[in-house]
Order: sequence, then structure tokens, then C-alpha cells
Amino acid sequence: MIREADPESGVTLRDVSRLAGVAEKELPDHLAHLARSLSAAGEELAIEPPVCRGCGFAFAKRTRFTRPGQCPRCKGRRISLPRLRIASRRG
Ligand SMILES: [Zn+2]
Repeated sequence: MIREADPESGVTLRDVSRLAGVAEKELPDHLAHLARSLSAAGEELAIEPPVCRGCGFAFAKRTRFTRPGQCPRCKGRRISLPRLRIASRRG
């Protein structure tokens, strides 16, 4: 379901929420399960970190699937949504 959305550019949590019919706040649990399922199938769920639109700060160390509320560098609140991507480890 997620792969059909747009695997090349990734999908946002909001996209997944809409596609899966799951509330956005409940997604982290679902995604953790999905990541394990994908791993067993030889694929992996990759996450592109959210980025501050104000100064370009990337939340690279953030491992959760939630969006940060505030940029630690410029204190801006215009943070992009993290994007998800499914990558095959085969071939
Ligand atoms: Zn910033």
C-alpha cells in the first residue's frame, strides 16, 4: 500500500495515515511493525529526516517517526514532514 503511493520520492506520514486509514499519532507503532515485516522480506523502511525550512537544519539523528516541534538551531517551527521510503536490499 505504501509502495504504491510513490516509492521514488517517498511518502509523508500524512500520506501513510491517509492510505492506511490510521491516525497519524498512532503511526509510529504501526511503522515499527511494518519495518520489522519489511526487514523479514529483504526490504527496509528508510526515513528521510525532517528538515527545518527556516535554516536547513536536518534532524539526522532523529530515529522516531514523529515531526519535531521546533528547530534547535533557529527555534523555527516550520519543520518539514519526515518522508518514508522503502528500499530493497536484494540485487
Ligand atoms: Zn532552523
